Amino acid sequence: MSEPEVVIKASSISFPRDRKISFTNGELISYDPATLQENGRVKVSSEEDVQVAVAHAHQAFPLWSSIPLGERISNLKRLSNLIYDDVEEIAALVSRECGKPKIEALTSEILPVLNMISVYTSQAEKWLAAEKPPFFWLAWLLGKSAKITYKPFGVVGVITPWNYPFYYDFGPALMALLAGNTVILKPSEYTPLVGKKAQELFAKLNLPPGTFQVIHGAGDVGQALIRARVDKIAFTGSPKTARAVLATAAERLTPVVMELGGKDAAIVLEDAPLETTAAGVAWAGLTSAGQVCASVERVYVSEKIAKPFIDRLVNNVQGLRMGQGLDPEVDMGPLTNERQLEIVKGHLRQAVEHGAQVLTGGKTKDQGLFFEPAVLVGVDRSMSLMREETFGPALPVVAVKDEEEAVRLANDSSFGLTASVWSLNRERAEKVAQRLRAGAVTINDHAVSAGLPNMPWGGIGESGFGRIHGRQGMQEFVYPSVIVGERFPRWKRLWWYPYNQKSYQFFRSLLVFLTNKPLLDKIRAISHLWRNLDLRRLH
Ligand code: NDP
Repeated sequence: MSEPEVVIKASSISFPRDRKISFTNGELISYDPATLQENGRVKVSSEEDVQVAVAHAHQAFPLWSSIPLGERISNLKRLSNLIYDDVEEIAALVSRECGKPKIEALTSEILPVLNMISVYTSQAEKWLAAEKPPFFWLAWLLGKSAKITYKPFGVVGVITPWNYPFYYDFGPALMALLAGNTVILKPSEYTPLVGKKAQELFAKLNLPPGTFQVIHGAGDVGQALIRARVDKIAFTGSPKTARAVLATAAERLTPVVMELGGKDAAIVLEDAPLETTAAGVAWAGLTSAGQVCASVERVYVSEKIAKPFIDRLVNNVQGLRMGQGLDPEVDMGPLTNERQLEIVKGHLRQAVEHGAQVLTGGKTKDQGLFFEPAVLVGVDRSMSLMREETFGPALPVVAVKDEEEAVRLANDSSFGLTASVWSLNRERAEKVAQRLRAGAVTINDHAVSAGLPNMPWGGIGESGFGRIHGRQGMQEFVYPSVIVGERFPRWKRLWWYPYNQKSYQFFRSLLVFLTNKPLLDKIRAISHLWRNLDLRRLH
Protein backbone atom coordinates (compact mmCIF):
# COMPACT_ATOMS: atom_id res chain seq x y z
CA MET A 1 0.00 0.00 0.00
CA SER A 2 1.35 3.44 -0.86
CA GLU A 3 2.06 5.81 2.03
CA PRO A 4 -0.47 8.63 2.45
CA GLU A 5 1.14 11.92 1.48
CA VAL A 6 1.27 14.75 3.99
CA VAL A 7 2.06 18.33 3.11
CA ILE A 8 2.27 20.72 6.04
CA LYS A 9 1.75 24.32 5.03
CA ALA A 10 0.03 27.48 6.18
CA SER A 11 -2.62 28.82 3.87
CA SER A 12 -5.45 31.26 3.93
CA ILE A 13 -8.17 28.79 2.93
CA SER A 14 -11.23 29.63 5.01
CA PHE A 15 -12.84 26.99 7.20
CA PRO A 16 -15.48 25.14 5.16
CA ARG A 17 -18.71 25.37 7.11
CA ASP A 18 -20.09 22.01 6.08
CA ARG A 19 -17.04 20.04 5.14
CA LYS A 20 -18.02 16.77 3.51
CA ILE A 21 -15.32 14.20 3.27
CA SER A 22 -15.42 10.91 1.52
CA PHE A 23 -12.73 8.43 0.63
CA THR A 24 -13.29 9.25 -3.01
CA ASN A 25 -12.44 12.93 -2.59
CA GLY A 26 -8.71 12.42 -2.50
CA GLU A 27 -7.46 14.54 0.38
CA LEU A 28 -8.24 15.25 4.00
CA ILE A 29 -7.49 18.79 5.17
CA SER A 30 -6.48 19.46 8.77
CA TYR A 31 -7.35 22.91 10.21
CA ASP A 32 -6.19 24.78 13.30
CA PRO A 33 -9.46 25.61 15.10
CA ALA A 34 -7.88 28.68 16.72
CA THR A 35 -6.87 30.38 13.47
CA LEU A 36 -8.91 28.41 10.91
CA GLN A 37 -5.69 28.08 8.92
CA GLU A 38 -4.81 24.86 7.20
CA ASN A 39 -2.34 22.62 9.05
CA GLY A 40 -1.73 20.18 6.23
CA ARG A 41 -3.28 17.46 4.11
CA VAL A 42 -3.34 13.70 4.06
CA LYS A 43 -4.30 11.45 1.21
CA VAL A 44 -7.57 9.70 1.95
CA SER A 45 -7.52 5.90 1.74
CA SER A 46 -9.74 4.34 -0.88
CA GLU A 47 -11.80 1.25 -0.17
CA GLU A 48 -9.20 -0.71 -2.11
CA ASP A 49 -6.38 0.78 0.04
CA VAL A 50 -8.27 -0.43 3.12
CA GLN A 51 -8.61 -3.94 1.72
CA VAL A 52 -4.92 -4.04 0.75
CA ALA A 53 -3.93 -2.83 4.24
CA VAL A 54 -6.05 -5.54 5.87
CA ALA A 55 -4.57 -8.18 3.55
CA HIS A 56 -1.03 -7.02 4.50
CA ALA A 57 -1.95 -7.14 8.16
CA HIS A 58 -3.18 -10.73 7.78
CA GLN A 59 0.05 -11.68 6.03
CA ALA A 60 2.12 -10.09 8.80
CA PHE A 61 0.19 -11.74 11.63
CA PRO A 62 1.82 -15.22 11.63
CA LEU A 63 5.31 -13.68 11.81
CA TRP A 64 4.52 -10.94 14.35
CA SER A 65 2.58 -13.28 16.65
CA SER A 66 5.33 -15.90 16.56
CA ILE A 67 8.01 -13.43 17.67
CA PRO A 68 8.60 -14.18 21.38
CA LEU A 69 6.81 -11.76 23.68
CA GLY A 70 10.10 -10.56 25.17
CA GLU A 71 11.23 -9.45 21.70
CA ARG A 72 7.93 -7.73 20.96
CA ILE A 73 8.33 -5.90 24.26
CA SER A 74 11.87 -4.73 23.47
CA ASN A 75 10.75 -3.58 20.02
CA LEU A 76 7.86 -1.50 21.32
CA LYS A 77 9.83 -0.11 24.28
CA ARG A 78 11.96 1.79 21.79
CA LEU A 79 8.95 4.02 21.08
CA SER A 80 9.51 5.95 24.33
CA ASN A 81 12.80 7.48 23.21
CA LEU A 82 11.42 8.19 19.75
CA ILE A 83 8.42 10.02 21.23
CA TYR A 84 10.63 11.87 23.71
CA ASP A 85 12.93 13.05 20.91
CA ASP A 86 9.96 14.54 19.02
CA VAL A 87 8.04 15.77 22.05
CA GLU A 88 7.90 19.45 21.01
CA GLU A 89 6.71 18.60 17.51
CA ILE A 90 4.05 16.21 18.84
CA ALA A 91 2.78 18.66 21.48
CA ALA A 92 2.51 21.42 18.87
CA LEU A 93 0.78 19.11 16.39
CA VAL A 94 -1.82 17.98 18.94
CA SER A 95 -2.39 21.60 19.92
CA ARG A 96 -2.73 22.75 16.31
CA GLU A 97 -5.18 20.00 15.34
CA CYS A 98 -7.31 19.92 18.53
CA GLY A 99 -6.86 23.48 19.75
CA LYS A 100 -5.87 22.43 23.28
CA PRO A 101 -3.01 24.11 25.17
CA LYS A 102 0.36 22.49 24.57
CA ILE A 103 0.68 21.69 28.27
CA GLU A 104 -2.48 19.53 28.00
CA ALA A 105 -0.93 17.71 25.05
CA LEU A 106 2.00 17.03 27.36
CA THR A 107 0.15 16.12 30.58
CA SER A 108 -2.83 14.22 29.20
CA GLU A 109 -1.51 12.72 25.97
CA ILE A 110 2.28 12.37 25.73
CA LEU A 111 2.99 11.69 29.39
CA PRO A 112 0.24 9.03 29.67
CA VAL A 113 1.47 7.35 26.46
CA LEU A 114 5.04 7.15 27.81
CA ASN A 115 3.57 5.82 31.05
CA MET A 116 1.54 3.23 29.09
CA ILE A 117 4.64 2.05 27.25
CA SER A 118 6.50 1.73 30.54
CA VAL A 119 3.69 -0.09 32.40
CA TYR A 120 2.47 -2.30 29.53
CA THR A 121 5.95 -3.46 28.59
CA SER A 122 6.81 -4.24 32.21
CA GLN A 123 3.49 -6.05 32.85
CA ALA A 124 2.74 -7.76 29.52
CA GLU A 125 4.49 -11.02 30.45
CA LYS A 126 2.44 -11.26 33.63
CA TRP A 127 -0.84 -10.19 32.04
CA LEU A 128 -0.50 -12.58 29.09
CA ALA A 129 0.93 -15.55 30.99
CA ALA A 130 -0.87 -18.89 30.87
CA GLU A 131 -2.95 -19.61 33.99
CA LYS A 132 -3.57 -22.81 35.89
CA PRO A 133 -7.12 -22.87 37.20
CA PRO A 134 -7.76 -23.95 40.81
CA PHE A 135 -7.70 -27.69 41.57
CA PHE A 136 -10.95 -29.43 40.74
CA TRP A 137 -11.31 -32.96 42.10
CA LEU A 138 -13.46 -34.46 39.32
CA ALA A 139 -11.04 -33.38 36.58
CA TRP A 140 -8.18 -34.80 38.63
CA LEU A 141 -10.05 -38.07 39.21
CA LEU A 142 -10.68 -38.40 35.50
CA GLY A 143 -6.98 -37.86 34.81
CA LYS A 144 -7.17 -34.38 33.37
CA SER A 145 -5.07 -31.27 33.89
CA ALA A 146 -5.86 -27.95 32.26
CA LYS A 147 -4.48 -24.47 31.73
CA ILE A 148 -5.66 -21.27 30.06
CA THR A 149 -3.49 -19.71 27.39
CA TYR A 150 -4.12 -16.34 25.75
CA LYS A 151 -3.94 -16.04 21.97
CA PRO A 152 -4.05 -12.91 19.80
CA PHE A 153 -7.10 -12.43 17.57
CA GLY A 154 -5.24 -11.58 14.36
CA VAL A 155 -5.85 -8.16 12.80
CA VAL A 156 -7.20 -5.46 15.10
CA GLY A 157 -8.88 -2.35 13.67
CA VAL A 158 -8.43 0.67 15.94
CA ILE A 159 -10.84 3.58 15.30
CA THR A 160 -10.09 6.70 17.31
CA PRO A 161 -11.63 10.11 18.13
CA TRP A 162 -10.22 13.61 17.74
CA ASN A 163 -10.27 14.81 21.33
CA TYR A 164 -7.22 12.84 22.59
CA PRO A 165 -5.69 11.79 19.29
CA PHE A 166 -2.18 10.93 20.43
CA TYR A 167 -3.36 9.09 23.55
CA TYR A 168 -5.92 6.99 21.64
CA ASP A 169 -3.84 6.42 18.51
CA PHE A 170 -1.27 4.73 20.78
CA GLY A 171 -3.13 3.17 23.75
CA PRO A 172 -5.24 0.38 22.21
CA ALA A 173 -2.66 -0.18 19.43
CA LEU A 174 0.14 -0.77 21.93
CA MET A 175 -1.85 -3.36 23.85
CA ALA A 176 -2.99 -5.10 20.68
CA LEU A 177 0.57 -5.27 19.31
CA LEU A 178 2.09 -6.51 22.57
CA ALA A 179 -0.52 -9.25 22.63
CA GLY A 180 0.66 -10.38 19.17
CA ASN A 181 -1.98 -8.84 16.89
CA THR A 182 -1.28 -6.69 13.88
CA VAL A 183 -3.00 -3.29 13.85
CA ILE A 184 -4.68 -0.93 11.43
CA LEU A 185 -5.37 2.51 12.86
CA LYS A 186 -8.11 4.82 11.51
CA PRO A 187 -7.63 8.21 13.19
CA SER A 188 -10.33 10.88 13.20
CA GLU A 189 -10.75 12.98 10.08
CA TYR A 190 -10.16 16.05 12.31
CA THR A 191 -6.72 14.91 13.54
CA PRO A 192 -5.12 13.09 10.60
CA LEU A 193 -1.66 14.61 11.12
CA VAL A 194 -1.39 13.11 14.60
CA GLY A 195 -2.32 9.76 13.05
CA LYS A 196 0.34 10.33 10.42
CA LYS A 197 2.87 11.07 13.17
CA ALA A 198 1.97 7.79 14.89
CA GLN A 199 2.64 6.04 11.61
CA GLU A 200 6.08 7.71 11.32
CA LEU A 201 7.04 6.77 14.85
CA PHE A 202 6.01 3.13 14.43
CA ALA A 203 7.81 3.02 11.07
CA LYS A 204 11.09 3.79 12.87
CA LEU A 205 10.75 0.52 14.81
CA ASN A 206 11.16 -1.51 11.62
CA LEU A 207 8.47 -3.98 12.63
CA PRO A 208 7.65 -6.68 10.04
CA PRO A 209 5.86 -4.96 7.11
CA GLY A 210 2.10 -4.80 7.68
CA THR A 211 2.35 -5.02 11.49
CA PHE A 212 1.16 -1.45 12.10
CA GLN A 213 -0.57 0.58 9.41
CA VAL A 214 -2.59 3.78 9.28
CA ILE A 215 -5.49 4.49 6.96
CA HIS A 216 -7.09 7.92 6.66
CA GLY A 217 -10.59 9.18 6.08
CA ALA A 218 -14.00 9.77 7.59
CA GLY A 219 -16.66 7.38 8.83
CA ASP A 220 -16.93 5.61 5.48
CA VAL A 221 -13.27 4.56 5.79
CA GLY A 222 -14.04 3.31 9.31
CA GLN A 223 -16.91 1.29 7.87
CA ALA A 224 -14.68 -0.09 5.10
CA LEU A 225 -12.19 -1.22 7.75
CA ILE A 226 -14.84 -3.08 9.74
CA ARG A 227 -16.18 -4.75 6.60
CA ALA A 228 -12.71 -5.79 5.46
CA ARG A 229 -12.37 -8.93 7.61
CA VAL A 230 -10.64 -7.58 10.71
CA ASP A 231 -10.73 -9.90 13.72
CA LYS A 232 -11.41 -7.35 16.45
CA ILE A 233 -12.40 -3.69 16.61
CA ALA A 234 -11.26 -1.27 19.31
CA PHE A 235 -13.58 1.69 18.93
CA THR A 236 -13.42 4.97 20.85
CA GLY A 237 -16.06 7.53 19.99
CA SER A 238 -19.67 8.54 20.48
CA PRO A 239 -22.57 6.18 21.27
CA LYS A 240 -24.24 7.22 18.01
CA THR A 241 -21.29 6.09 15.87
CA ALA A 242 -20.87 3.03 18.11
CA ARG A 243 -24.29 1.83 16.98
CA ALA A 244 -23.22 2.07 13.32
CA VAL A 245 -19.96 0.27 14.14
CA LEU A 246 -21.83 -2.50 15.96
CA ALA A 247 -24.32 -2.91 13.13
CA THR A 248 -21.52 -3.52 10.61
CA ALA A 249 -19.49 -5.64 13.03
CA ALA A 250 -22.59 -7.79 13.51
CA GLU A 251 -22.41 -8.89 9.85
CA ARG A 252 -19.29 -10.96 10.56
CA LEU A 253 -19.81 -11.20 14.33
CA THR A 254 -16.57 -9.27 14.77
CA PRO A 255 -15.92 -8.66 18.49
CA VAL A 256 -15.72 -5.04 19.58
CA VAL A 257 -14.46 -3.13 22.60
CA MET A 258 -16.34 0.14 23.00
CA GLU A 259 -15.05 3.24 24.80
CA LEU A 260 -17.82 5.80 24.45
CA GLY A 261 -19.10 9.07 25.81
CA GLY A 262 -19.87 10.24 29.31
CA LYS A 263 -21.93 12.64 31.37
CA ASP A 264 -19.78 12.59 34.48
CA ALA A 265 -21.12 13.83 37.78
CA ALA A 266 -19.05 15.52 40.48
CA ILE A 267 -20.58 15.22 43.95
CA VAL A 268 -19.43 17.95 46.30
CA LEU A 269 -20.21 17.06 49.92
CA GLU A 270 -20.56 19.75 52.58
CA ASP A 271 -17.13 19.08 54.10
CA ALA A 272 -15.26 19.52 50.81
CA PRO A 273 -12.47 22.13 50.95
CA LEU A 274 -14.09 24.99 49.02
CA GLU A 275 -11.14 26.63 47.26
CA THR A 276 -9.52 23.37 46.17
CA THR A 277 -12.77 21.77 45.09
CA ALA A 278 -13.87 24.77 43.03
CA ALA A 279 -10.47 24.83 41.29
CA GLY A 280 -10.58 21.05 40.74
CA VAL A 281 -14.13 20.98 39.38
CA ALA A 282 -13.37 23.93 37.05
CA TRP A 283 -10.39 22.02 35.65
CA ALA A 284 -12.30 18.72 35.44
CA GLY A 285 -15.12 20.32 33.45
CA LEU A 286 -13.08 22.57 31.22
CA THR A 287 -9.77 20.90 30.41
CA SER A 288 -9.49 20.31 26.69
CA ALA A 289 -12.37 22.85 26.41
CA GLY A 290 -14.62 20.26 28.03
CA GLN A 291 -14.09 17.88 25.11
CA VAL A 292 -13.24 14.92 27.30
CA CYS A 293 -15.24 11.70 27.50
CA ALA A 294 -14.82 11.97 31.27
CA SER A 295 -15.50 15.71 31.63
CA VAL A 296 -17.47 16.84 34.63
CA GLU A 297 -20.78 17.70 32.95
CA ARG A 298 -23.00 17.77 36.05
CA VAL A 299 -22.12 19.17 39.49
CA TYR A 300 -24.20 18.18 42.51
CA VAL A 301 -23.22 20.30 45.51
CA SER A 302 -24.60 20.15 49.04
CA GLU A 303 -27.01 23.06 49.53
CA LYS A 304 -25.13 23.86 52.77
CA ILE A 305 -22.15 25.12 50.78
CA ALA A 306 -23.75 25.76 47.39
CA LYS A 307 -23.51 29.57 47.44
CA PRO A 308 -19.82 29.93 48.41
CA PHE A 309 -18.88 27.00 46.18
CA ILE A 310 -20.63 28.44 43.11
CA ASP A 311 -19.06 31.88 43.76
CA ARG A 312 -15.60 30.33 43.81
CA LEU A 313 -16.34 28.19 40.75
CA VAL A 314 -17.43 31.29 38.80
CA ASN A 315 -14.27 33.12 39.95
CA ASN A 316 -12.12 30.26 38.75
CA VAL A 317 -13.84 30.09 35.39
CA GLN A 318 -13.68 33.84 34.85
CA GLY A 319 -9.95 33.76 35.51
CA LEU A 320 -9.25 31.38 32.62
CA ARG A 321 -7.24 32.81 29.73
CA MET A 322 -8.43 31.75 26.27
CA GLY A 323 -6.28 31.74 23.20
CA GLN A 324 -4.28 29.63 20.78
CA GLY A 325 -2.96 26.53 22.54
CA LEU A 326 0.59 27.09 21.31
CA ASP A 327 0.88 30.06 23.72
CA PRO A 328 2.15 28.66 27.07
CA GLU A 329 0.21 31.35 29.00
CA VAL A 330 -3.16 30.11 27.70
CA ASP A 331 -5.50 27.95 29.84
CA MET A 332 -8.14 27.06 27.29
CA GLY A 333 -8.19 26.81 23.53
CA PRO A 334 -11.07 26.70 21.06
CA LEU A 335 -13.36 23.76 20.40
CA THR A 336 -11.90 21.39 17.86
CA ASN A 337 -14.55 21.53 15.18
CA GLU A 338 -17.64 23.41 14.20
CA ARG A 339 -19.92 20.41 14.63
CA GLN A 340 -19.00 20.31 18.31
CA LEU A 341 -19.41 24.07 18.73
CA GLU A 342 -22.95 23.80 17.36
CA ILE A 343 -23.83 21.01 19.83
CA VAL A 344 -22.57 23.07 22.79
CA LYS A 345 -24.38 26.20 21.65
CA GLY A 346 -27.56 24.16 21.12
CA HIS A 347 -27.45 22.63 24.62
CA LEU A 348 -26.95 26.03 26.25
CA ARG A 349 -29.64 27.71 24.15
CA GLN A 350 -32.18 25.01 25.01
CA ALA A 351 -31.27 25.11 28.73
CA VAL A 352 -31.73 28.89 28.86
CA GLU A 353 -35.08 28.61 27.03
CA HIS A 354 -36.16 26.18 29.78
CA GLY A 355 -35.18 28.51 32.61
CA ALA A 356 -31.45 27.95 33.25
CA GLN A 357 -29.33 30.97 34.21
CA VAL A 358 -25.86 31.44 32.82
CA LEU A 359 -23.68 32.90 35.60
CA THR A 360 -20.71 33.42 33.34
CA GLY A 361 -19.56 32.68 29.78
CA GLY A 362 -21.57 30.92 27.12
CA LYS A 363 -20.64 33.14 24.16
CA THR A 364 -18.68 32.53 20.97
CA LYS A 365 -15.83 34.78 19.83
CA ASP A 366 -15.34 36.41 16.46
CA GLN A 367 -12.13 34.53 15.74
CA GLY A 368 -11.74 30.76 15.57
CA LEU A 369 -13.98 28.20 17.26
CA PHE A 370 -13.73 29.73 20.74
CA PHE A 371 -16.54 29.43 23.26
CA GLU A 372 -16.38 31.16 26.63
CA PRO A 373 -16.55 28.59 29.46
CA ALA A 374 -19.94 28.72 31.14
CA VAL A 375 -21.33 28.05 34.63
CA LEU A 376 -25.08 27.49 34.81
CA VAL A 377 -27.66 27.07 37.57
CA GLY A 378 -31.40 26.47 37.48
CA VAL A 379 -30.85 23.34 35.40
CA ASP A 380 -32.81 20.09 35.50
CA ARG A 381 -33.15 16.79 33.70
CA SER A 382 -35.64 18.13 31.16
CA MET A 383 -32.67 19.86 29.48
CA SER A 384 -30.38 18.11 27.02
CA LEU A 385 -27.53 19.86 28.87
CA MET A 386 -28.24 17.51 31.81
CA ARG A 387 -28.96 14.32 29.83
CA GLU A 388 -26.90 14.21 26.64
CA GLU A 389 -23.16 14.50 26.26
CA THR A 390 -22.37 18.22 25.78
CA PHE A 391 -18.64 17.73 25.20
CA GLY A 392 -17.86 21.39 25.67
CA PRO A 393 -16.96 24.06 28.23
CA ALA A 394 -20.16 24.14 30.32
CA LEU A 395 -20.57 23.41 34.02
CA PRO A 396 -24.21 23.06 35.14
CA VAL A 397 -24.51 23.11 38.95
CA VAL A 398 -27.39 21.73 41.05
CA ALA A 399 -27.73 22.26 44.83
CA VAL A 400 -28.83 19.05 46.56
CA LYS A 401 -30.42 18.42 49.95
CA ASP A 402 -28.17 15.56 51.00
CA GLU A 403 -25.92 12.70 49.95
CA GLU A 404 -28.93 10.53 49.04
CA GLU A 405 -30.22 13.05 46.54
CA ALA A 406 -26.73 13.55 45.09
CA VAL A 407 -26.29 9.81 44.51
CA ARG A 408 -29.76 9.42 43.03
CA LEU A 409 -29.29 12.30 40.57
CA ALA A 410 -25.73 11.26 39.66
CA ASN A 411 -26.95 7.74 38.82
CA ASP A 412 -29.90 9.07 36.84
CA SER A 413 -28.06 8.95 33.53
CA SER A 414 -27.82 6.62 30.56
CA PHE A 415 -24.02 7.10 30.74
CA GLY A 416 -21.67 5.58 33.33
CA LEU A 417 -18.07 6.44 32.53
CA THR A 418 -16.57 8.09 35.61
CA ALA A 419 -17.60 10.30 38.54
CA SER A 420 -15.95 12.09 41.41
CA VAL A 421 -16.67 12.69 45.08
CA TRP A 422 -15.22 15.71 46.86
CA SER A 423 -14.94 15.50 50.66
CA LEU A 424 -12.35 15.56 53.43
CA ASN A 425 -13.89 12.39 54.89
CA ARG A 426 -12.22 9.61 52.93
CA GLU A 427 -14.35 6.84 54.40
CA ARG A 428 -17.60 8.66 53.61
CA ALA A 429 -16.41 9.54 50.11
CA GLU A 430 -15.57 5.88 49.43
CA LYS A 431 -19.02 4.80 50.60
CA VAL A 432 -20.58 7.27 48.16
CA ALA A 433 -18.19 6.06 45.44
CA GLN A 434 -19.37 2.48 45.99
CA ARG A 435 -22.92 3.55 45.20
CA LEU A 436 -22.14 5.32 41.92
CA ARG A 437 -22.82 3.59 38.61
CA ALA A 438 -19.53 4.31 36.82
CA GLY A 439 -16.41 2.59 35.52
CA ALA A 440 -14.23 4.69 37.84
CA VAL A 441 -14.81 7.08 40.73
CA THR A 442 -12.11 9.53 41.82
CA ILE A 443 -12.01 11.16 45.21
CA ASN A 444 -10.96 14.84 45.34
CA ASP A 445 -9.87 14.83 41.70
CA HIS A 446 -11.43 13.64 38.47
CA ALA A 447 -10.85 10.87 35.91
CA VAL A 448 -7.19 10.45 36.78
CA SER A 449 -7.41 6.69 36.28
CA ALA A 450 -7.20 7.45 32.53
CA GLY A 451 -3.56 8.14 33.32
CA LEU A 452 -3.04 4.95 35.35
CA PRO A 453 -2.31 2.32 32.71
CA ASN A 454 -2.41 -0.52 35.23
CA MET A 455 -6.10 0.25 35.96
CA PRO A 456 -8.94 -0.83 33.66
CA TRP A 457 -10.62 2.07 31.81
CA GLY A 458 -14.16 1.97 30.48
CA GLY A 459 -17.77 2.46 31.41
CA ILE A 460 -21.23 0.97 31.39
CA GLY A 461 -24.50 1.85 29.69
CA GLU A 462 -24.00 4.35 26.87
CA SER A 463 -20.38 4.79 27.98
CA GLY A 464 -19.57 1.47 26.36
CA PHE A 465 -18.40 -1.99 27.28
CA GLY A 466 -15.12 -3.81 27.61
CA ARG A 467 -12.01 -2.17 28.96
CA ILE A 468 -8.73 -0.76 27.76
CA HIS A 469 -5.66 -0.41 30.05
CA GLY A 470 -4.69 -2.72 32.83
CA ARG A 471 -4.82 -6.48 32.75
CA GLN A 472 -8.48 -6.40 31.72
CA GLY A 473 -7.59 -4.08 28.82
CA MET A 474 -4.79 -6.33 27.61
CA GLN A 475 -7.20 -9.25 27.69
CA GLU A 476 -9.48 -7.47 25.22
CA PHE A 477 -6.84 -8.21 22.59
CA VAL A 478 -6.50 -11.94 23.25
CA TYR A 479 -8.93 -14.78 23.54
CA PRO A 480 -8.62 -17.47 26.19
CA SER A 481 -7.76 -20.86 24.75
CA VAL A 482 -7.82 -23.83 27.09
CA ILE A 483 -5.30 -26.66 26.79
CA VAL A 484 -6.36 -29.88 28.48
CA GLY A 485 -3.71 -32.48 29.25
CA GLU A 486 -4.07 -36.21 29.98
CA ARG A 487 -2.19 -37.85 32.85
CA PHE A 488 -2.78 -41.44 31.69
CA PRO A 489 -2.33 -41.24 27.90
CA ARG A 490 -2.03 -45.02 27.42
CA TRP A 491 -5.45 -45.73 28.91
CA LYS A 492 -8.77 -45.58 27.16
CA ARG A 493 -11.40 -43.41 28.81
CA LEU A 494 -14.32 -44.84 30.73
CA TRP A 495 -16.77 -42.58 28.83
CA TRP A 496 -15.68 -43.80 25.40
CA TYR A 497 -17.47 -46.57 23.40
CA PRO A 498 -18.77 -49.17 23.97
CA TYR A 499 -21.43 -48.04 26.47
CA ASN A 500 -22.95 -50.62 28.85
CA GLN A 501 -24.95 -50.92 32.06
CA LYS A 502 -21.85 -51.03 34.26
CA SER A 503 -20.43 -47.78 32.96
CA TYR A 504 -23.86 -46.15 33.28
CA GLN A 505 -23.98 -47.18 36.95
CA PHE A 506 -20.41 -45.97 37.52
CA PHE A 507 -21.24 -42.44 36.38
CA ARG A 508 -24.63 -42.59 38.13
CA SER A 509 -22.78 -43.19 41.45
CA LEU A 510 -20.35 -40.37 40.73
CA LEU A 511 -23.20 -37.81 40.59
CA VAL A 512 -23.82 -37.95 44.34
CA PHE A 513 -20.44 -36.34 45.06
CA LEU A 514 -21.67 -33.19 43.30
CA THR A 515 -24.70 -32.88 45.61
CA ASN A 516 -25.30 -31.94 49.23
CA LYS A 517 -26.51 -35.46 50.10
CA PRO A 518 -25.52 -36.85 53.55
CA LEU A 519 -22.06 -38.31 54.07
CA LEU A 520 -23.53 -41.81 54.39
CA ASP A 521 -24.90 -41.63 50.82
CA LYS A 522 -21.43 -40.66 49.59
CA ILE A 523 -19.75 -43.53 51.44
CA ARG A 524 -22.26 -45.94 49.86
CA ALA A 525 -21.54 -44.41 46.46
CA ILE A 526 -17.82 -45.25 46.82
CA SER A 527 -18.64 -48.97 47.00
CA HIS A 528 -20.97 -48.62 43.96
CA LEU A 529 -18.22 -46.85 42.07
CA TRP A 530 -15.77 -49.60 42.85
CA ARG A 531 -18.22 -52.35 41.89
CA ASN A 532 -18.98 -50.72 38.55
CA LEU A 533 -15.43 -49.78 37.66
CA ASP A 534 -14.59 -52.02 34.74
CA LEU A 535 -10.78 -51.83 34.61
CA ARG A 536 -10.67 -53.97 31.44
CA ARG A 537 -12.22 -51.05 29.58
CA LEU A 538 -9.07 -48.99 30.16
CA HIS A 539 -6.84 -51.15 27.95
P1 NDP B 1 -17.24 9.85 16.63
O1 NDP B 1 -18.07 8.75 17.16
O2 NDP B 1 -17.86 10.85 15.77
O3 NDP B 1 -15.97 9.27 15.83
C1 NDP B 1 -15.07 8.34 16.38
C2 NDP B 1 -14.31 7.68 15.26
O4 NDP B 1 -15.21 6.90 14.46
C3 NDP B 1 -13.66 8.66 14.30
O5 NDP B 1 -12.46 8.12 13.82
C4 NDP B 1 -14.71 8.74 13.20
O6 NDP B 1 -14.20 9.19 12.00
C5 NDP B 1 -15.12 7.30 13.11
N1 NDP B 1 -16.43 7.11 12.50
C6 NDP B 1 -17.41 8.02 12.25
N2 NDP B 1 -18.48 7.43 11.70
C7 NDP B 1 -18.18 6.12 11.57
C8 NDP B 1 -18.88 4.99 11.07
N3 NDP B 1 -20.13 5.08 10.60
N4 NDP B 1 -18.26 3.78 11.10
C9 NDP B 1 -17.01 3.66 11.61
N5 NDP B 1 -16.30 4.69 12.09
C10 NDP B 1 -16.87 5.91 12.08
O7 NDP B 1 -16.57 10.52 17.90
P2 NDP B 1 -15.70 11.82 17.94
O8 NDP B 1 -14.50 11.65 17.08
O9 NDP B 1 -16.60 12.99 17.72
O10 NDP B 1 -15.18 11.78 19.45
C11 NDP B 1 -15.93 12.24 20.50
C12 NDP B 1 -16.65 11.10 21.20
O11 NDP B 1 -15.71 10.13 21.62
C13 NDP B 1 -17.35 11.58 22.44
O12 NDP B 1 -18.58 10.94 22.57
C14 NDP B 1 -16.39 11.14 23.53
O13 NDP B 1 -17.00 11.01 24.79
C15 NDP B 1 -15.91 9.83 22.99
N6 NDP B 1 -14.67 9.44 23.63
C16 NDP B 1 -14.68 8.40 24.53
C17 NDP B 1 -13.53 8.05 25.22
C18 NDP B 1 -13.51 6.93 26.23
O14 NDP B 1 -12.44 6.51 26.62
N7 NDP B 1 -14.63 6.42 26.69
C19 NDP B 1 -12.30 8.80 25.02
C20 NDP B 1 -12.38 9.84 24.06
C21 NDP B 1 -13.54 10.15 23.40
P3 NDP B 1 -14.32 10.76 11.68
O15 NDP B 1 -13.75 11.51 12.84
O16 NDP B 1 -13.49 10.89 10.51
O17 NDP B 1 -15.77 11.04 11.49
